[in-house]
Amino acid sequence: MTSRVELRHLRRAFGSTVALDDLDLTIEAGELVALLGPSGCGKTTALRCIAGFERPDRGAVLVNDRDITAVPANKRDAGMVFQSYSLFPHLSARDNVAFGMRMRKVVAAKRHSRADELLELVGLPAIGDRYPHQLSGGQQQRVALARALALEPSVLLLDEPLSALDAKVRVSLREEIRRLQISLGVTTLFVTHDQEEALSMADRVAVLRSGRLEQVASPDRIYEHPATAFVAEFIGSMNHLPGAVEGDRVIVNGQALPIDGAIPVAAEVDVLVRPEAVRLQSAPNGPGLVTRSSFRGATARLHVDLDGRQVQADVPGHDASVLAPGTRVVLTLVDRPVLVTERTQTSA
Ligand code: ATP
Repeated sequence: MTSRVELRHLRRAFGSTVALDDLDLTIEAGELVALLGPSGCGKTTALRCIAGFERPDRGAVLVNDRDITAVPANKRDAGMVFQSYSLFPHLSARDNVAFGMRMRKVVAAKRHSRADELLELVGLPAIGDRYPHQLSGGQQQRVALARALALEPSVLLLDEPLSALDAKVRVSLREEIRRLQISLGVTTLFVTHDQEEALSMADRVAVLRSGRLEQVASPDRIYEHPATAFVAEFIGSMNHLPGAVEGDRVIVNGQALPIDGAIPVAAEVDVLVRPEAVRLQSAPNGPGLVTRSSFRGATARLHVDLDGRQVQADVPGHDASVLAPGTRVVLTLVDRPVLVTERTQTSA
């Protein structure tokens, strides 16, 4: 059975380090929530509180409205996969997957056939007899996933399970985890510091900062409408341009653009614009100067000096050659800013 998991006012401190500070987060039944944030923001601690490895100082963990804060880890119904390959080295892949069933006294024939079924489910039908050292990193994580799913957990907890893998394996495995998670309908919390991973896999992304929830929303909402400058900065690249509020618009780069969301009270504002919203046109007397270009294939990221301010623009890869460093350009913003905030000292 799949479950709804609720974290209520969770607080956990280690000495003077506050890992979780009044964290509220709900993961709906069958949902995959990615917990995203910089190193040390409390992601793993939050996950460990759900698993029962960590006891919060205050607050509660609820599963289907039942308070399980005091329930020991081995009595909780959660499957876990960690970043490091945590398979038992002396057990075959099949016995690794069957381990939990053995603990629960499932008879050998039954647990072995179930383990083989699970290995097939994670795309490894023929490796049951192999030992962890005979498997690639990606294969080991698939086995770890099969092991986590073996006891049909109502919650799946994944702690950076892909970060030790190379880029290609990471992308294919994340697609597979997502496919499997949807087909099993298992409520999942996925901890990552990789924003692309979070955006591509999750139903909702929860951004954590210093133990607090900064924003939780669907991937497109988090990207298009970050609630704070911290979220905007953390998800993708961002330009900061000076602007002035006029009515319900902001004047930036000589253009009047609509403001999404709350209109700041201050007249002088910091306007946050994504690199893909900046168009460049070569012009001999243009105010901008291309200083650097990095080709990425389909696109190129150009760095432009605009009155001493650095602006990044993403252009189609084939335009990079006509906008080489040294080219003067005119900049046009082609999308509304993702955020308009009061100007802070650092942004001025
Ligand atoms: P990372 O992405 O680097 O894994 P994280 O977001 O998962 O980080 P946590 O591991 O939850 O962060 O740690 C949050 C804070 O609590 C950090 O400052 C960390 O040093 C501290 N911390 C976590 N566990 C302990 C512990 N057992 N003892 C002391 N401090 C701890």
